[in-house]
Amino acid sequence: MSLPQFTLLRPRTLQEAVGALAKHVSNIRVLAGGTDLIPSMRQKLFEPEYVLDIRHLAELKGVHRQSGEGVSIGALSTLTSIEHSEFLRKHYPVLTEAAATVASPVLRNMGTIGGNICLDTRCLWYNQSLTWRFLHQERWRLMPCCSRRNQVLGGILWRHSSGAALPECRDRDG
Ligand SMILES: Cc1cc2nc3c(=O)[nH]c(=O)nc-3n(C[C@H](O)[C@H](O)[C@H](O)COP(=O)(O)OP(=O)(O)OC[C@H]3O[C@@H](n4cnc5c(N)ncnc54)[C@H](O)[C@@H]3O)c2cc1C
Repeated sequence: MSLPQFTLLRPRTLQEAVGALAKHVSNIRVLAGGTDLIPSMRQKLFEPEYVLDIRHLAELKGVHRQSGEGVSIGALSTLTSIEHSEFLRKHYPVLTEAAATVASPVLRNMGTIGGNICLDTRCLWYNQSLTWRFLHQERWRLMPCCSRRNQVLGGILWRHSSGAALPECRDRDG
């Protein structure tokens, strides 16, 4: 199946990326590893006018220890890089073990942690019935959600204290 036509945008910085998202908010999709987005576009599940290629943005790469807090994992970290990170294996083995169970080695080489989290099917809102969404639309509008089309997931912060992963989203307001 062929891809629908779209315009590819390659922002030079994260700031440019969120600017493009804000500008084309209803008609744009972020491209990371492409393991889900590209097949979905071929199947015409999404036909965005713009595709925002963020793969080269250095700000979204790497695993960084946050002193006293935990670890910050850039959204563009591939599942393979998480699986093979010596630092994560030593301090957060549950993450390396979980990454190693996803799909196949080829998909883990391409697929990113950010893309894994931002899959539409991970979204509590998306996974509900139309009736549920209608009934909860006001409450949901107030909830933080990285999958909103004007945000880029920068990474996750895995906290020592709670063991919880907090998304670090970036929109036009920072
Ligand atoms: C055959 C197969 C088997 C799989 N098996 C498993 C499994 O066992 N367990 C599991 O957990 N997952 C599984 N997956 C899902 C896989 O982990 C995801 O496809 C992959 O991690 C997505 O990452 P990506 O970088 O390729 O995302 P992309 O395909 O580039 O993007 C996916 C979605 O996320 C959005 N997105 C990506 N990055 C960002 C960002 N930084 N900010 C905002 N939005 C963003 C895109 O716009 C798109 O909507 C499987 C997938 C396939 C195809």
